Amino acid sequence: MNVYDGLRIAAMLEHHGLVQTDNVSDADIIILNTCAVRAKATDKVFSALGRIRRAKRPNALFGIVGCVAREAGATAFRRIPDLNFVLGPQSYHKLPQILDNPDAKLLNIDLGGLEKFDELPQMERSPRVAYIPIQEGCNHVCTYCIVPYTRGRELSRPFNDCLRETLHAAKTGAIEICFLGQNVNGYKYTDENGHTFRLSDLIRETAKIPEIHRIRFTSSYPTEMTDDLIDMFRTEPKLLPFLNMPIQSGSQNVLSRMNRPYSLELYTNIIDKLRAARPDIQISSDFIVGFPDESDDDFEQTMNIADRIRYINSYSFKYSPRPHTAAALMPNQIPENIKAARLAKLDTRLNEIQREFNESCIDKTFECLLEGPDKTGRHLVYRTPFMQQCIVPTCADAPALAMIKITAANKASLRGKFA
Ligand code: SAH
Repeated sequence: MNVYDGLRIAAMLEHHGLVQTDNVSDADIIILNTCAVRAKATDKVFSALGRIRRAKRPNALFGIVGCVAREAGATAFRRIPDLNFVLGPQSYHKLPQILDNPDAKLLNIDLGGLEKFDELPQMERSPRVAYIPIQEGCNHVCTYCIVPYTRGRELSRPFNDCLRETLHAAKTGAIEICFLGQNVNGYKYTDENGHTFRLSDLIRETAKIPEIHRIRFTSSYPTEMTDDLIDMFRTEPKLLPFLNMPIQSGSQNVLSRMNRPYSLELYTNIIDKLRAARPDIQISSDFIVGFPDESDDDFEQTMNIADRIRYINSYSFKYSPRPHTAAALMPNQIPENIKAARLAKLDTRLNEIQREFNESCIDKTFECLLEGPDKTGRHLVYRTPFMQQCIVPTCADAPALAMIKITAANKASLRGKFA
């Protein structure tokens, strides 16, 4: 979502005649797009602002957008007095105001809903993978999560707006579409005639666009995984056989304290249905370890579920207490050293499972999408249908979509050759 926001901001500034630079000391305006999900990310923002402040040209404008801006609000100006702007995740389209009036302090952390989508100019060229946000905010109130505070209540964008943006991306270079939302599988829009559209409708329409070869969506909430959507994995070959559906914890007690009221049985039933619809489907998850009052036994249940589902790719985090959340006030917060030990243990297991899956891909051939050259420039990075990185030697005129035979694998990536 932040990548998408960053691209839209860049396109907007280009519209105002600015060009991008990677060099802070060359820039006329410096924008940090920020994430507030964990405390560490927030802390990094303020140390980065300190560095930027020293490196930038004296009258260059600088400021923050996104969730840290929303969380910090006016206090950001108190911490860094020469900051020029602080704009929340739903008001970054107001950024041109600071170009018109550089001497003012611009603060806007309102939850303006979907307004920004209407006000931003379209991107002229789409990246090969186009992120299409179809929803803002979130109505689940997970007790650890700051997102409902920073991004507000859940709003689904009008169906036709989503389709129009998808079509525009397809006509300007997109090959893969990734629909985005905090609770993306809960997408639901009712038009003026009372017709309700779901994510499955959006996938069905997008699959008709000839330029689009791959479709995916992230991230999904377990109880919103409805049968119409599961069925898409059976009927729509362009939908990739890969799904991010965070479970967070394998302990029923912890899940209920997280206010994620689904049973492990329901979760595993959904996975069974998905596997029946698409036998090769692979699942990824997010995990939080060290949630308040998590016992050794609770944690072992998380280890068990990781083994049982065999997630091929996961993000795992130490629980981080956040302002405006219920869990931050819960008793029995877990000490840092226990959180760290649990995270290391879980990561070790998740990495083993990931490596085993990667190794099982050797000698198989997949259609992969070109991401671009690697850092050395000697290799090209492709993405498999399961979103694994696959590295092939650089060649002239490498096709954007290629059949690649996997020749080697480790935990992080695959190697392959054009088949
Ligand atoms: N709705 C999104 C949430 C985005 S945050 C989603 O389901 O992915 C991405 C991940 O960050 C969450 O899934 C969760 O695992 C993690 N996370 C959120 N709040 C956290 C916190 N307070 N401490 C640690 N990890 C957190």
